Order: sequence, then structure tokens, then C-alpha cells
Amino acid sequence: MKPTVIIIGRPNVGKSTLFNRLIGKKLALVDDQPGVTRDRRMGDAEIAGLQFTVVDTAGWEDEDADTLPGRMRAQTEVSIEGADAALFVIDARAGLTPLDEEIGRWLRQQSVPVVLVANKAEGRAGEAGVFESYGLGLGEPVPLSAEHGEGVADLFGALWPVIGEKAEAADEGEPVEDDDEDGERPRGPLKLAIVGRPNAGKSTLINRLLGENRLLTGPEAGITRDSIAVDWSWTNPRDGETREIRLIDTAGMRKKARVVEKLEKLSVADARRAVDFAEVVVLLLDATKGLEHQDLKIADMVLQEGRALMIAINKWDVAGQEPGGNASALFNGIKGALDDGLAQVRGLPVLAVSAKTGKGLDTMLNAAFELRETWSKRVSTAALNRWFDDALEANPPPAPGGKRIKLRYITQAGTRPPRFVVFGTRLDMLPKSYERYLVNGIRAKLGFDAVPVRVVLKSAK
Ligand code: GDP
Ligand code: GDP
Repeated sequence: MKPTVIIIGRPNVGKSTLFNRLIGKKLALVDDQPGVTRDRRMGDAEIAGLQFTVVDTAGWEDEDADTLPGRMRAQTEVSIEGADAALFVIDARAGLTPLDEEIGRWLRQQSVPVVLVANKAEGRAGEAGVFESYGLGLGEPVPLSAEHGEGVADLFGALWPVIGEKAEAADEGEPVEDDDEDGERPRGPLKLAIVGRPNAGKSTLINRLLGENRLLTGPEAGITRDSIAVDWSWTNPRDGETREIRLIDTAGMRKKARVVEKLEKLSVADARRAVDFAEVVVLLLDATKGLEHQDLKIADMVLQEGRALMIAINKWDVAGQEPGGNASALFNGIKGALDDGLAQVRGLPVLAVSAKTGKGLDTMLNAAFELRETWSKRVSTAALNRWFDDALEANPPPAPGGKRIKLRYITQAGTRPPRFVVFGTRLDMLPKSYERYLVNGIRAKLGFDAVPVRVVLKSAK
């Protein structure tokens, strides 16, 4: 296990900027509005080969525990328990505030080693603040500019003595990820994203899966404003095996027209990024709302991106339970509408679940692992061409203008998603319907049902 470093500080000191800097991409939201960082985010961080997991916490706000900021504070307290180090960030330009001092007092009582970071220290405007921060009694501050990337080497110098040993041990024990495309069985954690409209139950589902109050849930729509990755292991009750999962939670996707705030625009972009990152995407539907056009749009986007998609119909504890309700008719209705709406992929796994009671969740995860295998599968060139010859014989390509289109050979060019190249001549004349015939054949006869399949045509002289 890599060491974990948690970033702590009051709102607006630059925690998200630092988080982004450490993970080297723009995953977290950054905004001037205090409290934008509403939840925990995790990412893989690296400074000069020192690898660790970084956790960005909610803004620390001084309020009661039953308010949203209060709950975020409780989350911070949960996060710190598992951390190997804390980066306590202050704003060197603003100088110390009473809240900084309160956090400092609290941190001194924790057992986790603290590295004090005086951010926004570029130029001279931060000098006084850097000096002042010695007064927190947390040792020498590291002057840093998260925005400009200055001082990162000093941060390395401060972190190495604390987490270096654990990072090196983890580096040696790290399993090799199967990025090349020869492997039949995918390895590494299953990268799973949960997407769906606001209020479908994404946060509830993730909480349930993790068995811990990791994400905030509540009646406020869109409370998860951002994507969060959480590594976790799941024991399959079928075979007792423990498997690794990296769960990506995304902001609720909603209709573009309704996205008014800048913040929400960022969140939609973020959901797309999470899909990019995922191997398998679970589209969560709200059974009490049925299938809406927006759900099909999301599903279509996921398939366009070439990800393996499955559908979980949530809130099955209440769906169809009202007087005169009929749960199986409801299920079949949604499934039928999905088949009609997503004609490009047949046989998508569709499951009924309840994030609230946990019903169907083990089945869902089993299906997700199976789907990843299909998505990663490679068929032998021999088997592929045996099928290809049969397919051409059963239904030869047309002969526009009396000259036959020749299809010679097919090969699987890649996996994740499965990609095929067909070589032949006069390919620009090949009707779309024939291409579809081939794609459907690959799906049905070669076991690639339920995943997106790509076919490219190439001229062979
Ligand atoms: P958080 O609320 O602590 O997560 O803070 P953010 O990361 O959202 O940053 C708050 C504001 O400070 C944003 O406007 C950032 O652009 C700005 N900021 C972050 N780091 C620096 C820095 O190193 N120098 C300066 N001048 N501004 C910064
Ligand atoms: P998100 O916006 O997709 O993250 O949705 P939330 O997880 O915040 O859930 C929205 C609302 O639906 C909350 O009031 C949840 O308690 C409720 N909810 C979520 N899952 C279930 C479920 O399986 N059954 C029932 N009855 N309610 C649920």
C-alpha cells in the first residue's frame, strides 16, 4: 500500500490547486468560491518519483456538526485516521487567521505527522505570512506556490523523511498493470464509474458499497459536485475471492440547458473525464422516475467513448410497491425502452438494485468484472477468420457495377474496447448495412455481446 497524504486547511488557501499540482492533472474543481471542495477526493500523486495517494478534504469550516460544513469537518476527521502524513496548508498572503490557529491546535493533538505548507508564497507578498506561520508550533513551514509550481522540491524534502520508506516498500510490491493488449485476463483494480442523473442514488450506492460514510449524501440534488476516486476491495460472496476496485464517483449529469452555474459546467466535464478513466461504467437509473431521454444520452456518450456499460435500476426497494404497482412490468418496460434506445449494443446487463438495502449489489459487481473480461478479450486470428469466411459465404458482399467488393482478411487490432480491422478492396463502395452485418456477427458469434465493438476497413492491394 502506498502512503496516504491528506491535505487540510481552511477554505480558499489553495488545497485543490495543490491537489491538482500533485496528481498532475485537472481533476479537482478550483474556484474562488469558498467551500467548493465539498467532498473527499483521492488521486495518485508523485513528486520526483515519490509516489503516494493524496486526499483533498472538504473545506474546514467552523460550524455545527449537523450543517453541511459541519459534516465536511467530520469527514476530515475520518480521513486523517488512515493518513501517513497531513499537509496543513495556510495562505501566506492572508497571514494566519483564527481558523488556521484552531486547525493547528487540533492537528497538534493528532498522531499524524504534519507538514506545514505556506501556500501562495510566490513573489514577496507571502514573506510575512511564512514567518508568522512558525508561530503555529508545527515546525518549519514549506513556502510553496501551488499555482506556479514553486517550492515542490522543498515539499519533497519535507515529505520524504515522513513517508519515503513506506513509498519505497510499496513501489517494490506494486503489481504490474496489464496495459498491453495481449493479456486475456485483465489485471489491476477494476476501474468502475457510477454515473447517472442527480438524485439517482449514486452517493448512496457508493456509501453502501464502501460500508463507510465516505461521501456526503442528502436530499440536496447534485451534492456530489465532482469526481472522486476511491480504492477499495470487495469480497465476492460467490467464491470468497477478494478483488480490487477503483471506484470513480461522478457529478450527476444533467441536461446542458439546465447547467447554469460555472460550477455545474465543470462538474459535467468532470463526469466525462471520469468516464474516460473508467473501464466499466454503471449507469444508475431511478426506478421511480423511469427511463428519461437524458439517461439514453449518457448511455450513448459512454458507448461512444468505447467503455463497457451496464445499467442498474435503483430504488428497487420502493419501485412498483405502491398499491397496484407491478415491479416486473416496470423492469421489463425499462429494459425494452433501453433496447430500443440503444440499438447499437444488444444485451447490455440490466439489473435491479437498491442502494438503500444493498439488494443486487454483489450481482452488479460480479457483472461488472465479467463485462470487463469481455471488453478486454482477444480472439485468435484463426478463430476470427474462420467466422469471417463463414459470414462472407452466408452473405457475400455486393458487387456494385458488376465488380465484386473483396474482403480478404480480418484481424483484431486491439482490446478495451475490442477493435477489428477488415482488409479488402473497393471498400469505399461497401454499404453501411454490410458493416453492421459484420459488427453484429462479431458480437453474436465471437462473444462480444454487450460491449461496444469497433470495425475499421483498410484497403489491401
Ligand atoms: P481550496 O479552497 O483550499 O481548495 O483553494 P483553491 O485551490 O480552490 O484555491 C483558492 C484560490 O487561491 C484560487 O483562486 C486559486 O487560484 C488561488 N491559489 C491557489 N494556489 C495559489 C498560489 O500558489 N498562489 C496564488 N497567488 N494563488 C493561489
Ligand atoms: P445522487 O445525487 O445520485 O448522488 O443521489 P443520492 O445518493 O444523494 O440519493 C438521492 C436520494 O435518493 C436520497 O434521498 C437517497 O436517500 C435516495 N435513495 C438513494 N438510493 C435509494 C434506494 O435504493 N432506495 C430508496 N428508497 N431511496 C434511495
